[in-house]
Parts: sequence; C-alpha cells; structure tokens
Amino acid sequence: MAIKREDLIHPFISGNKYRKLKYNIKEAKRIGATTLLTFGGAFSNHIAAVAYAGKVNGFKTIGVIRGEELGLNQELNPTLQFAKTCGMHLDFISRASFRKKTSKDFIGELKDRFGDFYLLPEGGTNNLAVKGCEEILQADDFNFDYICCAVGTGGTISGIINASQRHQKILGFPALKGDFLQQDIRKFANQDHWDLITDYHFGGYGKIKPELITFINRFKRVYNIPLDPIYTGKMLFGVFDLIEKGFFPKDSKLLVIHTGGLQGIAGVNAMLKRKNQPLIEV
Ligand SMILES: *Cc1c(COP(=O)(O)O)cnc(C)c1O
Repeated sequence: MAIKREDLIHPFISGNKYRKLKYNIKEAKRIGATTLLTFGGAFSNHIAAVAYAGKVNGFKTIGVIRGEELGLNQELNPTLQFAKTCGMHLDFISRASFRKKTSKDFIGELKDRFGDFYLLPEGGTNNLAVKGCEEILQADDFNFDYICCAVGTGGTISGIINASQRHQKILGFPALKGDFLQQDIRKFANQDHWDLITDYHFGGYGKIKPELITFINRFKRVYNIPLDPIYTGKMLFGVFDLIEKGFFPKDSKLLVIHTGGLQGIAGVNAMLKRKNQPLIEV
C-alpha cells in the first residue's frame, strides 16, 4: 500500500481543496471578479482554503457559515479564526437558511447584501474543481489496482475517476450518510470503474467515536503520518478493516489518497476536550 501525500502540497490550502480551487481562481480572475463567496460548516477545510487562496490572490472573501450560534461565541474556533485572520468576512446564518443556500432567491439576497461575487459551492465542487482534481493522479499511479479516497461532496473522487485507467478500481469512502452521493458523482465522472464503500462514516458527517481516535493515534505512531478525523481517518480505518476482512485479492496494489484536512484537528480536539473524550495526538 502506498499513500499519496496530497496533504503536503501546500501548507495552508489542504490537499484536495487546493486542487479544487486552482481553476476556479483562474476563472474568477479571467472574468474580473473581485469577491469570492462560499459556504461551510464550523471546521470546514474548504472555508479555510478559500480564505487563504483569496488573500494571496487578491480577492475579498465572504464565508457564509452554518450555525448562528457560532457568531455569538466570543471566541471563534481555530478554523474560523484562521479564515478571519486571512481577511474573510464571516456571515453566520441559521441551519434552516443554510439549507436554502443553492436556491436562486437566497443567492439573490446575498447579492443584494454583498454585491457581485464569484460563487463557490459548499465543499467547492463544480466542473472546474473536478478538472483540478484530475491532476491528482500522475502516470506512475496507473500501476495500482485500487485507488482509495475519502468522499464529501464527490468532486475529488470524480476527478480521480476521470484521470484513472479502466483496469483500476476507484473506491470512495463517504464521510457522511447520504444516498445522493452516487448520483452526484455520476454528474461529474465520465467512467464507471468505481464504487462507494458506505460502512465507515461513523454515524455521519463530523461524527467521531473513540475507536476512530484510537486508530488515528495508532496510525500516527506507527507510520508517522497524521490523519484528520473527518475524512482521511475514517477512510483509512475502512481500508485497514477491508484488508483484514480479505476484501482485496492477494497481491493487489493499493494507492490511498491523503486529501489533507489536518487544519481541522485543533477545532475537533477542543470539542473532544469539552466532552471529556480522548484527543487526537499532535
Ligand atoms: C473536502 C475534503 C474531502 C472530500 O472532498 P470532496 O471533493 O468534497 O468529496 C476529503 N478529504 C478532505 C481532507 C477534505 O478536506
């Protein structure tokens, strides 16, 4: 098994989020946009990435954040604090409003409030993001039989699917519950040698169990590679479990994509500490 360290390609814009923003930033510049607006939750890697990418590329950035209560807390969590330090304007909205974020009316209201902007969807997935993720695979990655990656909105795996060869099998490990993912990926993927392994979301997006923390800490001690608890930790937990269960034929060559997400650890640890649960070792 080999691990592709996409977490190391950039110090602040974590792994796949860098790939997903690359062509969107280019497009935003080409059309003369001055502001990037996007959506995300409290620990969102995408929010952190957009804030930083906006700063270094000269865009104003607006982050519309799920959960009004987060704005009332005097102290922002490390992800949101980082975004704010990069100059991102944070706009906190209720969970009910957040659900409407793709509606025309809601986008119209945002334009009335903030003026014109280049819209990046939650998680950053669109056609240009998938194009960026097609660059994750390189020629020597075609020797692998299986390529495994974590799935949130499906943009990253779609790029990997498109760039892969037919003799390979791409396995996605969703970090959340959701039957919509299959269809979402089909919208962007142009080949069908892939599958979703839906047994390792640990109860849903952002849900964390002590056994996951134990696995992440053990993995770090043995391989000296940090994993995040939202995406890559769950995926590698699944890969190891499948290996143990004999899922992969003997002598299969596995490539695992480390998509990054390590910036989220500090915020998750603060939450675990409040709940008196074991922490991720850093
Ligand atoms: C966002 C993210 C994912 C999921 O990517 P999608 O393109 O939304 O499926 C996986 N891993 C990490 C670390 C992420 O930050």
